[in-house]
Amino acid sequence: MLSDALLKVSGMNVSVEDKQILHDIDLTIQPGETHVLMGPNGAGKSTLGYALMGSPRYKVTGSLLLKGEEIVSLPADQRAKKGMFLSFQEPLEVPGLSLESFLRSAVSERTGVKVRPWEFRKQMKKVMDLLEISPEKAERGLNVGFSGGEKKKAEILQMLLFRPDIAILDETDSGLDVDAVHLVAEGIRTYQQEAGGALLIITHSTRILEPLRIDRTHIMVDGTLVREGDASLVARVNESGYDQFIPTKEA
Ligand code: ADP
Ligand code: MG
Repeated sequence: MLSDALLKVSGMNVSVEDKQILHDIDLTIQPGETHVLMGPNGAGKSTLGYALMGSPRYKVTGSLLLKGEEIVSLPADQRAKKGMFLSFQEPLEVPGLSLESFLRSAVSERTGVKVRPWEFRKQMKKVMDLLEISPEKAERGLNVGFSGGEKKKAEILQMLLFRPDIAILDETDSGLDVDAVHLVAEGIRTYQQEAGGALLIITHSTRILEPLRIDRTHIMVDGTLVREGDASLVARVNESGYDQFIPTKEA
């Protein structure tokens, strides 16, 4: 059956080393929609991000449709090529591969077109200026010696150049100072408005969400999506925490 959904997850179970972490996940994201995923530490939010992206560490069953195509058995690089992007909670350092050449090959891989170095540099410089990333970072080994905030900004830079159909951002705002949160949020807003891309934003904070349009909010507890709502659910979590969504803690 044809479906308009960009991403349609049905009955997805995820385990690591024979331990089941996610249970019967259903999640539908339409093109251009922004979804927020919240939940206590250890709930399984990062696991969901990795499983969606196809990290080989996780055993995944169920269905995972991207633009109507079953991708549950595709490796991560194929999913990236088809338009998925994951910003890691803890970005890896890759000595010997410069940020610029990494991004250029990622963008070429995504578009199937070889990007000319000169043109790419110009395009990249524009986005680096927007995010206030200092120019010398382009030549440095990917994330090597970057501060926590710089790594997160580099992920947003990658997202803005890569222009995925859907970006999963895993606590991109954690460990950022006030100015960096603002810049990262503006970068995400640019992606939302100009690229029209969909987002799944994993976060504990509302600051990064302030400038963004939020379409749906999901709460995850113990590997299960327990509640779905609109943007007002974010405010409710911030006021009263997660206990209200944990069945055993209900009064
Ligand atoms: P969150 O991002 O919501 O804080 P995670 O997805 O990181 O939660 O983790 C969910 C649960 O799965 C935790 O209990 C964690 O210890 C476990 N887990 C995640 N990854 C692994 C792994 N590679 N091996 C063993 N357990 C894991
Ligand atoms: Mg996490």
